[in-house]
Amino acid sequence: MKPGNPTISALGTTVFTTMSALALEHKAVNLGQGFPDGNGPEDVRTKAAEFLSDRPNQYPPMMGVPELRQAVAAHNKRFYGLDVDWLREVMVTSGATESLTACFLSLIAPGDEVILIEPLYDSYLPIVRLAGGIPKLVRLTPPHWDLPREELAAAFSTKTKLIALNSPMNPIGKVFSREELEFIAGLVVRNDAYALCDEVYEHIIFDNAQHIPLMTLPGMRERCLRVGSAGKTFSLTGWKIGYVTGAPALVANAGKAHQFITFTTPPNLQRAVAYGLSKDDTYFKSLATDLQAKRDFLAVGLKDVGFDVLRCDGTYFVTTDIRALGLECDDVAFCKHITAEAGVAAIPLSAFYEGKAPENFVRFAFCKEAHTLEEALTRLRKYFKR
Ligand code: PMP
Ligand code: GLN
Repeated sequence: MKPGNPTISALGTTVFTTMSALALEHKAVNLGQGFPDGNGPEDVRTKAAEFLSDRPNQYPPMMGVPELRQAVAAHNKRFYGLDVDWLREVMVTSGATESLTACFLSLIAPGDEVILIEPLYDSYLPIVRLAGGIPKLVRLTPPHWDLPREELAAAFSTKTKLIALNSPMNPIGKVFSREELEFIAGLVVRNDAYALCDEVYEHIIFDNAQHIPLMTLPGMRERCLRVGSAGKTFSLTGWKIGYVTGAPALVANAGKAHQFITFTTPPNLQRAVAYGLSKDDTYFKSLATDLQAKRDFLAVGLKDVGFDVLRCDGTYFVTTDIRALGLECDDVAFCKHITAEAGVAAIPLSAFYEGKAPENFVRFAFCKEAHTLEEALTRLRKYFKR
């Protein structure tokens, strides 16, 4: 028999599925895969239920229902001062995963170089490769995850088509500063490239951190595609509603990919997300303050257990250094071990790297109810005898 597509056939199962299955098998508290254990805002779900019975359930417009595209445009204006034409500059997709896929596929021609920053979200590389792109990986250095500016500049070339930038950044909780974004913007302009901005955690930022979309910087409005996710903003990860904002030509081209990936996205979930995006500022503020309290609770607890806890300015993940615990194994073995033996699942950071990666970092998700986080810490304390 002939083999399948080599890029796809070479893939393993995503670490999130693997670790969630292991968590289930061992009845572990799952702080691995990032999904809230709450059920999302009740008013948004009630709206969805109403719309599901009152409104049409057939194919909506390919680019998204007008209500949601208008809401995405208004959200861009409200939070970032961006003027967005909802008709030509917004596209709705089935999750940010699909937004990213459509954007990558629509930008990359075979042989184009694509700059990716490690540690990186696991869907980027396979799609870049499927499109025929050549990944150019640049690593941030722990524990502060600083941007290696010279290396980044050296990674750009005349063949660079785009850079993918995830801020706030999964898994390490980094929020790129204005200075870093200005540096990246300079490289994008100088090399006549594009930026695919994965900003799904845009509203999950802590303390005094500020989320600045790269798109708002000089010269960037025409070169960026900005991706958001209702899964993150409304703690409804199963809904899979994503949205892309960008210049008309870029969004139109991404739409050509989207039309043959999913074509459309469930219309009444889109309408409920439109309602959600129009909620007042208190909703967006409390999303961040609630998660900040959870971050602090988990971070203090993990420190007590003996983990070194790294800084987290955004996202709902906290990265820890496991060396101080003295288990003498790599991050993958460590995560499997604590899932089975301590009853708590986490994600090894090496899953976010290609090739030889640091083996001493583990990610815990804190988008969980207080009692879930408490139970996880109780189990870890007991196991590590703290
Ligand atoms: N990008 C990043 C960085 C993520 O963490 C996620 C969450 N899975 C996604 C994209 C995909 O979001 P969605 O669930 O909306 O497809
Ligand atoms: N984004 C989520 C995480 O990082 C998981 C998404 C998925 O399971 N594909 O945990």
